[in-house]
Amino acid sequence: MKKCALLVWVVAAMVAIPSMGWAQQTEYPIVVIPTGEGPFTFPEGYQTPWDQIQIMVTEKMSPNLFVLHGSKGLDRAHPDASGGRVMVLFGTDGVLMVDTQNSQVAEKTLATIRSFTDASIKVLVNSHIHGDHTGANAFFAKQGALIFAQEDLRLDMINPLRPNGQPAPALDMAAVPVVTYRYDPAAPGEPAVTLNMNGETVDFIPMMPSRTAGDTVVRFRNANVIYIEDFYRNFGYPFAAQSRGGSIRGMIEAVDLFQKIAGPDTWLIPGHGTLIHREDLLPYQAMLVDILAKVAALRNEGKSLKEVLDANLTAPYDTTTQGDTQQSKDRFITAVYEEVNDFPPIVDGRRTMPIHP
Ligand SMILES: [Zn+2]
Repeated sequence: MKKCALLVWVVAAMVAIPSMGWAQQTEYPIVVIPTGEGPFTFPEGYQTPWDQIQIMVTEKMSPNLFVLHGSKGLDRAHPDASGGRVMVLFGTDGVLMVDTQNSQVAEKTLATIRSFTDASIKVLVNSHIHGDHTGANAFFAKQGALIFAQEDLRLDMINPLRPNGQPAPALDMAAVPVVTYRYDPAAPGEPAVTLNMNGETVDFIPMMPSRTAGDTVVRFRNANVIYIEDFYRNFGYPFAAQSRGGSIRGMIEAVDLFQKIAGPDTWLIPGHGTLIHREDLLPYQAMLVDILAKVAALRNEGKSLKEVLDANLTAPYDTTTQGDTQQSKDRFITAVYEEVNDFPPIVDGRRTMPIHP
């Protein structure tokens, strides 16, 4: 009997051990749908067909932390995957979202969330103001989300003028962040808000002016993941939205900050492009430092913006930069040119940038 019982135990263990092994082998992240690589081309006058764009779970960072992103090859502004990434933490405490995608796909974004959770939509944090990240704010506020963001993002959003001085379209006040906080230059990397939900500890970390004046990155401590939004990109050249308070020098500082607040294995999730680790930020920072020095030297020699653009300073980086369109390069070099001399201050989330003919 004893022998038999032992045999049963051994057989049970042989069955159990491999299956336990398999359970442990569920390694995150799971990339469900990779971002597109291009090259992508669009005909003259192309309009993004929002009705064709799908919003899908593209990465799973833990059993209850999913990433949503749009179709590739359709959104001219973001051909590798439409719009900006949305993160969704879900469970019995409700849904926490980072960003809301473009307004045109709001219903599809909600439908995709509903494909894996019925929990109520409770908390939304905005990484920065751009429409591919805040476009569906009002829609999700009406689903129940309380919106968090930096104060500079709120001020920029409620400003009755566009950054170019044109009147802004009517704003649905439901889109405006309710809970705001500020970046403290004396304590970079300190969370402004910490939430404990669904077995996670989530930090909203206000950033120095980088992509815009109102950036926030979002750390999920247990999953060891940080949503780093758009101060970094690996599709096209860096884009500091200076009229909204962005800064190339701030992007350089942001990389230094990430060497401190991220560990070597922490997954960093950009708003666009592929997932990375903190070491992947270093060549990006080196490129920013190099271009800043070269543009500063030319501008100090009295070179015009056109002459600096014609110098083709990004040439050494073009072969390793995906999505390196002429527009992306020129926008980057122009931003650096603005920044090395007479860079206007931030007032209420905006900079009054000079207009070039
Ligand atoms: Zn974006």
